[in-house]
Amino acid sequence: MKNTYIVICVIAACCLAACKGNKATTTEPTGQDSVQVPEFDADSAMASIVKQCAFGPRTLGSKAHSDCAQYIEEAFKAAGCEVSRQDAEFTLYNGQKFKGCNIIASYKPELQERILLCSHWDSRPWADNDPDANNHHSPVMAANDGASGVAVMIEIARKLKEQAPAVGVDFVCFDAEDAGLPEWETAFDGDEQDTWCLGSQYWANNPHRTDFRFGILLDMVGGKEAAFYKELFSQHYAASVVTYVWEAAKDAGYGSVFVDSDGGGITDDHLPLNRVAMIPTIDVIPYYPNMEHSFGSTWHTVKDTPENIDINTLKAVGQTMLQVIYGY
Ligand SMILES: [Zn+2]
Repeated sequence: MKNTYIVICVIAACCLAACKGNKATTTEPTGQDSVQVPEFDADSAMASIVKQCAFGPRTLGSKAHSDCAQYIEEAFKAAGCEVSRQDAEFTLYNGQKFKGCNIIASYKPELQERILLCSHWDSRPWADNDPDANNHHSPVMAANDGASGVAVMIEIARKLKEQAPAVGVDFVCFDAEDAGLPEWETAFDGDEQDTWCLGSQYWANNPHRTDFRFGILLDMVGGKEAAFYKELFSQHYAASVVTYVWEAAKDAGYGSVFVDSDGGGITDDHLPLNRVAMIPTIDVIPYYPNMEHSFGSTWHTVKDTPENIDINTLKAVGQTMLQVIYGY
């Protein structure tokens, strides 16, 4: 994803002003406080991050990329999901073309009442935010910015298999989120926003289904001491979902991790879902107000490795998602 905080803030403020008075079309979920919510296993999610990173950076066209796709498919299958691969060809900002795939895993596809969870699974090919310019052309390991969201989703799928919730869940792992315009590229004259989120753009134009109550995007959900603020586009397109998820976090005991304050506006996979597929979808993405970079110190650097994953963050997000699903 791309931090477009300042630019997007302005755009979002305009959108919000323009759309003021329009009611969100999402249906308010019927939260049940007394439901038995299973315990999220953060150690198991951590093991999945280590496993994904052991393949190497999952950049488009690499062996690590195809090996990891297979691992993700098998992990969801083992958790009892119906799994399919959506093959696509992605064109990067520089015209380079790569074959890739979104991976779709459906828990009880026959259930009508459904929630969409999604995350990107690819690694950024360039650590172009690294403090050392010598690393700018090295790939990112993407333990947090890629593997963490997938790991949390796989772990959730395992819980669904053990204890059936009332609602169906689809997990979509988007490819090619993070091959957007590198910082060093100054000659590009197209729309930079379109160079990001290629897998979700493809899926939004070719969704396997759209009858979801709402969607939740998990992006960088394992950073050290991460906190999640209410992202602006999420509030614009899916305000009731933001409220529901932040309430669920409180119920799960993680009200301090899901902060009741505004974050930035982010170009991320939730945008094509909201704008093209018309699925009200929020982005659960960290915000570090006091750091030089608001996505945290490892973002798009060679330090985005499993050692810098915070198991407490995985736990907070995973447990909150289980609360969302089982409380529905
Ligand atoms: Zn990224």
